[in-house]
Amino acid sequence: MQMNNSEIEKIIPGRWDRGFYRYQKEFEEKALEVLRSGRYILGEEVSSFEEEFAQFLGVKYCIGVGNGLDALRIAFHVLGIGSGDEVVVQANTFIASVMGISMNGAVPVFVEPDEYYGLDPQKVESKISAKTKAILAVHLYGQPCEMQEIANLCKKHQLYLVEDCAQSHGATLNDKMTGTFGNIACFSFYPGKNLGAFGDAGAIVTDDEGLDKAARVFRNYGSEKRYHNQVVGTNSRLDEIQAGLLRVRLSHLEELNKERANICERYLNEINNEKILLPGIRKGAKHVWHQFVIRTQQRDDLKDYLEEQGIGTIIHYPIPPHLSEAYQYLGITAGSLPITEEYAQTVLSLPLYNGMTEEEQSRVIQAMNRW
Ligand SMILES: *Cc1c(COP(=O)(O)O)cnc(C)c1O
Repeated sequence: MQMNNSEIEKIIPGRWDRGFYRYQKEFEEKALEVLRSGRYILGEEVSSFEEEFAQFLGVKYCIGVGNGLDALRIAFHVLGIGSGDEVVVQANTFIASVMGISMNGAVPVFVEPDEYYGLDPQKVESKISAKTKAILAVHLYGQPCEMQEIANLCKKHQLYLVEDCAQSHGATLNDKMTGTFGNIACFSFYPGKNLGAFGDAGAIVTDDEGLDKAARVFRNYGSEKRYHNQVVGTNSRLDEIQAGLLRVRLSHLEELNKERANICERYLNEINNEKILLPGIRKGAKHVWHQFVIRTQQRDDLKDYLEEQGIGTIIHYPIPPHLSEAYQYLGITAGSLPITEEYAQTVLSLPLYNGMTEEEQSRVIQAMNRW
């Protein structure tokens, strides 16, 4: 049966407003409370959020910052990583992971992902040189990387372990939270993330007192005490209003992640098309389904087909960082990272958001099976 596009509402990949309306009263009350407080920067909402998020993860320190890229940039800076240093990172990540390294003057060294889209520990050792200072593991799409093996590699080669948790709020491996495996971890609260703010926001977490102090000072012009600047820092502070709204969202994160998992369980059980490869789940992993990513050799054809059926999709990500214009200076040519490049040509993220109705889920499943 051909659907009539004018009669049905298009399914767009990220309906962020649905997550707002579910808790509308709580969000609006918190926003008004902050507006009326007269305190908009580095006040009680930020310190409360930092405490609550650290407690949620099981870490000692959390430092709110302006966004996820700043969290990465500041994390590498406070680890002392800069010019002349190399950081090993998976090649199939969002470009911000790589910019967090290169903005400090360090060189990103790319390794291929494993079948779960995480950094492949088998491929790391051949990339380690005398200049290597750290490994950045990205828990892409909401699924933890193979952290035990990666942590072992870091120990063996005396490297820092940094986690990019921008897509993995609440994800665990063998019941241990992502963000607690390494020396320092970085979060983004961009509105579309599992723990989303209503604007830009991010955080750094660590158990190391020295790193906490350095990041806290660096985010605020290098000062602990106003007008007493210890180092040349930056301005990357989490706003009071975003922190307050994040506290509301954090209090519901478990149920929001559960809802995503239920939608994905339906996708996994009901999508049945031999041309489509469904995502796998790593042993011991609790996946928080930031994205539901399938692969198919005829990806662009599937994308067009779904579009005709009123179903929007997104490609995460069509151009791997090493082939982007921004990183041509690294001189890494096409064909050097074949798995990453293959993924870039075959991955597709299906619509997935909190508040997605069963009817919307069914429409996606039916269209996937008809294709
Ligand atoms: C979103 C994201 C970032 C950057 O976060 P922003 O808040 O947008 O700066 C970094 N890494 C990954 C993997 C992301 O998905």
